[in-house]
Amino acid sequence: MLGMSEEEPWLTKPFIATSTEEILSAAQSKYIISSVNEILPDIERFEGKLAYVGLPGQVQSIRLLQEAGHPTVKNIEYIFGPFYGNTLHFSSVKSFLRSYGERDYRKIRKLYFRHGEWPGNMRIELESGRTIELPKFHANYLIPFHIMKNSLLCTDLSNEFTDISGGDAWAPAYEERGKGFSIILSRSDKGQAILDEMRGEGYLVLNPIEEGEAISMHSHGYDLKKRGTFIRMKYRRWLGKRNPDYGYIMKGFTLKRYLMELVIDSLFIILGTGFSRFIIERIPPKTVGKVFEKSRNVWKRSTKKIKKSQLNASNG
Ligand SMILES: Cc1cc2nc3c(=O)[nH]c(=O)nc-3n(C[C@H](O)[C@H](O)[C@H](O)COP(=O)(O)OP(=O)(O)OC[C@H]3O[C@@H](n4cnc5c(N)ncnc54)[C@H](O)[C@@H]3O)c2cc1C
Repeated sequence: MLGMSEEEPWLTKPFIATSTEEILSAAQSKYIISSVNEILPDIERFEGKLAYVGLPGQVQSIRLLQEAGHPTVKNIEYIFGPFYGNTLHFSSVKSFLRSYGERDYRKIRKLYFRHGEWPGNMRIELESGRTIELPKFHANYLIPFHIMKNSLLCTDLSNEFTDISGGDAWAPAYEERGKGFSIILSRSDKGQAILDEMRGEGYLVLNPIEEGEAISMHSHGYDLKKRGTFIRMKYRRWLGKRNPDYGYIMKGFTLKRYLMELVIDSLFIILGTGFSRFIIERIPPKTVGKVFEKSRNVWKRSTKKIKKSQLNASNG
């Protein structure tokens, strides 16, 4: 699993957890770049069976190695993973700190992305005793400024190659209630067996929902991955750039959706420049976050029709 480094608490660190405490210590999403698969040699040396937790790209690599019968993955018995919208470069943390007048990320003692009650806060505790905190929905303003390109070239939102994947249950009813609800999906018999057992023993409360409801909870994410990525790859092909080969292609999107993608991509390009980052760091994150959340909601509402069209269980 992916925890935070003890020596350099601003960095993520994959490790093999062998106790409940260690598993819990690695809870919470890390929305910055990580290299989980650097742990493969340790996985190979481990004596015993392991459950692996990773993002879709990392999981896909493990599945390919399993298919090839590679010895490094022979100990992996289960694969779990979170849903995956995007990851940010480490520059997001540096920029966030600079916005609060802090220059040195090496003074970070604790870094959280989902601290406290769901959906949680981005929170940084510094050596000086200062704590900086911003609600997740506001900290999302960092996304267009620091998003990693591979998030935009990924077609897998719900971690399709896992035994069990989990995400946030984004729905107004749950969001208003707070407390935190997750969506969980079993994708194999052995994944389902774990859920059944946990439910039987009272560790999990599961409320079944229909496929359509699950998709509509994540319609923006599905649109980003199942339409956006294929359109972005098409644009890249036109520009003579290479794309990942996922073994399938989705097409037949409306002209409006293609145009919408041009707007989105232009924003990513403009906001990702050093100049835009410089400007945004001069405005208090609280203000930027609020403006970002409001504009994102307006954008979501105004593009809802384009995004939701054709996105249902029967043709999805
Ligand atoms: C980069 C990223 C993007 C995400 N995007 C979305 C999204 O768009 N929509 C959505 O619904 N949910 C998304 N999630 C999932 C969501 O944030 C929660 O992780 C998910 O709801 C599971 O929460 P939990 O409390 O059940 O899991 P937790 O108990 O918090 O366990 C999470 C597990 O994931 C591992 N982990 C955390 N971060 C990483 C990482 N970067 N790489 C590999 N393993 C990691 C941890 O080690 C831990 O084992 C994302 C998660 C990540 C890490």
